[in-house]
Amino acid sequence: MKIAVLPGDGIGTEIVAQAVKVLQALDLKFEMESGLVGGAAYEAHGHPLPESTLKLAKEADAILFGAVGDWKYDTLDRPLRPEQAILGLRKHLGLFANFRPAICYEQLVGASSLNPELIAGLDILIIRELTGDIYFGQPRGRRIAVDGHFPGAEEAFDTMRYSRPEIERIAHVAFQAARKRKAAGSEGRVTSVDKANVLETFQFWKDIVTEVGLQYPDIALDHMYVDNAAMQLVRAPKKFDVVVTGNMFGDILSDEASMLTGSIGMLPSASMNANNQGLFEPSHGSAPDIAGKNIANPLATILSAAMMLRFSLDQAKAADRIETAVKAVLAQGLRTTDIFSTGTTRVSTLEMGNAVVQALK
Ligand code: NAD
Repeated sequence: MKIAVLPGDGIGTEIVAQAVKVLQALDLKFEMESGLVGGAAYEAHGHPLPESTLKLAKEADAILFGAVGDWKYDTLDRPLRPEQAILGLRKHLGLFANFRPAICYEQLVGASSLNPELIAGLDILIIRELTGDIYFGQPRGRRIAVDGHFPGAEEAFDTMRYSRPEIERIAHVAFQAARKRKAAGSEGRVTSVDKANVLETFQFWKDIVTEVGLQYPDIALDHMYVDNAAMQLVRAPKKFDVVVTGNMFGDILSDEASMLTGSIGMLPSASMNANNQGLFEPSHGSAPDIAGKNIANPLATILSAAMMLRFSLDQAKAADRIETAVKAVLAQGLRTTDIFSTGTTRVSTLEMGNAVVQALK
């Protein structure tokens, strides 16, 4: 089991160190190798995703990723900015399926801005297509308009497009995930989110997801417009089970869903390719405002390591152990600053990592 460890920038190094410590406390043999990525790689090699890091990532079974970025890089040319490293890894590794579970832990119900009864017991999964849609569609650019409302004026344009195979493969991922969740007690339902009432691309999306759904008679399928989905996520989030959607809608909805639980420092994510190789990272960014202070919450990264064990390394039992250990430390009342409330015990990044290791034992 070869793991590429890419801590990145800001709090990335602090939180990944805790996840590595937790992995090392399991009675499993891993080969772990670290590489520079993002701003750290730019400083050392002049590029956010150097060849050596890309090679390391390609040769690994899984990638444990921290976060990249810092405001000081905002003036760099776009291809040299830290965030390009993630786009490059997605592209070179064909990571097309992004899994973002939004789970509300019993002890953290009060951390959400929503009423506790709306989110207590929340356990939904957002699956976002990651390599297509308007983010990557060509042509794109700037030009002088030849038509539209202001012919002769400067304009910018992007292209929204999806091919049949791209939609089919993400739909299969969603139905299979719903099937696995159903076996573990969930409802067994996929909600496909689109904008079929306005966009040709998403009428096509809806038609193909419906076709693929016929192969999964045990899983219910419904369709929802993206504007309604954004509303329902805050109105009655527990009504969802698995949500599948395109790259842009998924970008927005997955962030909305992650904030439902009120604690971005708790939420892991996985980006998978067709060979079960995956990149596992917390849902949040590099948090430059708190970097180096030993106060960041490492649990999203530790839970990402659990997802890595389950999804890419076929070690479901070890993944369960980590998730149980995280629940145990929350039950002990240990909290990093972001999830602290009166009556609980405030701990540092390092202490939280140590507590999870202790709970594993
Ligand atoms: P952010 O997620 O880094 O931070 C948002 C807020 O949440 C901040 O107040 C931060 O302190 C807090 N926060 C985030 N993670 C936390 C944790 N584990 N524990 C405690 N508090 C935490 O988003 P941002 O501030 O918009 O972006 C900062 C940088 O991160 C930017 O350069 C951005 O481009 C980058 N970014 C990277 C990724 C990634 O690497 N995948 C994702 C999003 C943003």
